[in-house]
Amino acid sequence: MSQIHDRFQTTIAGSLPKPAWLAEPNKLWPAWRASGAELERAKRDATLLWLKEQEDVGIDIVTEGEQSRQHFVHGFLEFVDGIDFSRKVKMGIRNNRYDAMVPVVGGPLRLKGRVHEVEARLARGHTGRKLKITLPGPMTIVDTIADEFYRDKVKLALAFAELLNQEARALEKDGVDVIQFDEPAFNVYLDDVKRWGIDALHRAIEGLKCTTCVHICYGYGIQANIDWKRTLGGEWRQYAEIFPALAKSRIKQVSLECIHSKVPIELLKLLKGKDVLVGVIDVATDRIESAEEVSDVIEKALQYVPAKHLFPCTNCGMAPMDREVALKKLRALAAGAALARKKLGNRGQSPISAKSRRKKTRR
Ligand code: ZN
Repeated sequence: MSQIHDRFQTTIAGSLPKPAWLAEPNKLWPAWRASGAELERAKRDATLLWLKEQEDVGIDIVTEGEQSRQHFVHGFLEFVDGIDFSRKVKMGIRNNRYDAMVPVVGGPLRLKGRVHEVEARLARGHTGRKLKITLPGPMTIVDTIADEFYRDKVKLALAFAELLNQEARALEKDGVDVIQFDEPAFNVYLDDVKRWGIDALHRAIEGLKCTTCVHICYGYGIQANIDWKRTLGGEWRQYAEIFPALAKSRIKQVSLECIHSKVPIELLKLLKGKDVLVGVIDVATDRIESAEEVSDVIEKALQYVPAKHLFPCTNCGMAPMDREVALKKLRALAAGAALARKKLGNRGQSPISAKSRRKKTRR
């Protein structure tokens, strides 16, 4: 088993591909291969498999790979009372980037019970590494569901935030070290983030002592997102609108898209004081990054993020990818971070000062 590193600790956005015996491969909404007890066993096996793979390649902060949920938003919604799943309506989501058939909120929202208890406890019992569990963020949930009850986006978001908080507190008791909220909608509704998005996140993390994180990306590597990215121009400046507000928030970590994106790297300086999970692995291509490429992105980010706050990560979840490709990309992530540690010495200096230090101490 590989050692745990004290800097440039690697982690992933959250999801990993499901093995073909668990669910249809290469799909964002895969059908399960089994049902009942057999499905529960298959989810358990896949969770353990990915924990082992992450540890063996050298990922420092591991996840359960979202092996027990069909989709990152609906995996939570299934456990919420007040939503009518028998009635789905067509809705343009992420500001009409794509249409989805979404269920309808028809009454007061309430959790039916625990959402991720089984997989969180399973993972906790089988790894000594730091464990991260992801939940969908309130704004992203609100953008993925129709509402005929609250009839007010902010009220609906706060109602979901309350439920997310219940589950997050329970996950903390299960021994989870990092709870991450996935908010791809933050990159779309920039004014709403400042008006109520961060307030809703604060409601979701209320009372938590564990590390909290928000993941804000430009979406999975699916065609609708690739097409949308083409419309965003030569420089993506969405983060510039929301990072200053996030820097003032009580969220400890921000996970963002970096490699192969058109995000100007200097925007990272707007997250002063936060841990920054820098995307050094592209999930929109099957091409495997070299260790040098990964290390180069880490070096560039290091100009704006102190080493102790820099966590190499994937741009987004890897759920819809090929399993072998995802595993190779995990290896590239670990290898790139290892190369950066080697190149930059042990004290987090810039490459130049590390180099001159080596010269000085050479005997
Ligand atoms: Zn993402």
